[in-house]
Amino acid sequence: MPDVSTIRAALACACPVCTRHGEVHSQVPRTVLGAPVTVDAEMAPLLDALAAAGVVTVGSCVNLSEATARLWPAKLPALTAGVQPAVNYRRTLVEGLAFVRLLDTEAAAPFPSAVERLGGEVLRSGPLAQVAFPRWQMSALVAQL
Ligand SMILES: [Zn+2]
Ligand SMILES: [Zn+2]
Repeated sequence: MPDVSTIRAALACACPVCTRHGEVHSQVPRTVLGAPVTVDAEMAPLLDALAAAGVVTVGSCVNLSEATARLWPAKLPALTAGVQPAVNYRRTLVEGLAFVRLLDTEAAAPFPSAVERLGGEVLRSGPLAQVAFPRWQMSALVAQL
C-alpha cells in the first residue's frame, strides 16, 4: 500500500471539477485515512459499504462527464482523445458512467470482480484500480459487497 501522505496528497486535487464539485452533485462529508473529504451523496452507500469491507477509495463521481462538462469543459477533449494512461476516464466520460478509484488491495478484489460481471470497466495501474459502471447498477453493486 502506498504511504498515507501520498494518498492524502492525491485526495487534495485543486482542479475545478474537485474543488467546485458540490455545484453539480450534492456532497456529504466522509473520512478517508483520517482526512476529511466530501463525496457525491448518491455514491455514499456504495463508498460506505466499501469502507466497511476495508477498501480505501481515493476518488469517485456519479457522473464525471456531467461534472466536467459543467466545471471544466476545456479539459474534456484531453481526457477522451489520444493516448491515455492505463487508468483513465475515457470510457467513464464517453458513456456517462459512475466511477470509483481505489487502492487495489486484496480487500478490494471482490468489487472490481462484481463490476466486471455486470459489464463495467476495470482499469489497473500500480497501486490503483478504477472501476466504472452505469449509475443504475449502484444498488446491485452495493448488494454484492
Ligand atoms: Zn481534480
Ligand atoms: Zn460527482
